[in-house]
Amino acid sequence: MRVDIVTIFPEFFDSPLGCSILGRAQQAGIVQVEHHDLRDYTDDAHRTVDDSPYGGGAGMVMKPEPFFRACADILGGEEAPVVLLTPQGEPFSQQKAAQLAAQERLVLLCGHYEGVDERVREALVTDEISIGDYVLSGGELAALVVIDAVVRLLPGAVGNDQSPVQESFGDGLLEHPHYTRPAEFEGRAVPGVLVEGNHERIRRWRRKESLRRTLQRRPELVGRVELSSEDHELLKEIWQEMSAGM
Ligand code: SAM
Repeated sequence: MRVDIVTIFPEFFDSPLGCSILGRAQQAGIVQVEHHDLRDYTDDAHRTVDDSPYGGGAGMVMKPEPFFRACADILGGEEAPVVLLTPQGEPFSQQKAAQLAAQERLVLLCGHYEGVDERVREALVTDEISIGDYVLSGGELAALVVIDAVVRLLPGAVGNDQSPVQESFGDGLLEHPHYTRPAEFEGRAVPGVLVEGNHERIRRWRRKESLRRTLQRRPELVGRVELSSEDHELLKEIWQEMSAGM
């Protein structure tokens, strides 16, 4: 996969893109991430990317021309999703990450100031993504969030290819709790079933705790998942335990 980021702060990406799974995925040739300085696509001596808003008011608006030139240069006529990071976009989700991970190319546009000229959104952008109901100063952090979530879904990016599937939201639920050594820490013991070595009982415990956790923290997700007959049995047990105050 190839990801192109259009930004006025290309240096913002150096450290995060060089670390951990993102760094290794690039070294392994699983993904190629390129950042482009929007100012390279300006045509004045001051490399101006913003201007005051028509109609007046506070703040500056990012000019359309540099974005149009940048996309034309980057894509060279090729088709690819062009994603605008914006608090007004579709809320980002694991499902959206999976949809983007199926693409060969991705272009991410980072806004700043009051945002970008509306004509960029109308004519260039195929997807608008928000990473949450809050306002950041720029699209760079949001772009990194999207890249990280997408790249870890690419085959080979995460050591164990199963793990993105087994993680929270992979099957629509939150993941079960995790424990590692020591078996007891400050009076808190690891659940017995996890140290007994019975794989079927461990699988059932994990499914049940995944359901319990989702029910407690994000009950709306349980209603969206196709539940098996075992899930219904486990949910009944959880309800009984909860009403018994366990
Ligand atoms: N005036 C805009 C509004 O009220 O919708 C907010 C502009 S914000 C200060 C500047 C830039 O940060 C946006 O153009 C966008 O690229 C990015 N941004 C801010 N919050 C974001 C969010 N929640 N998700 C994705 N991008 C965001």
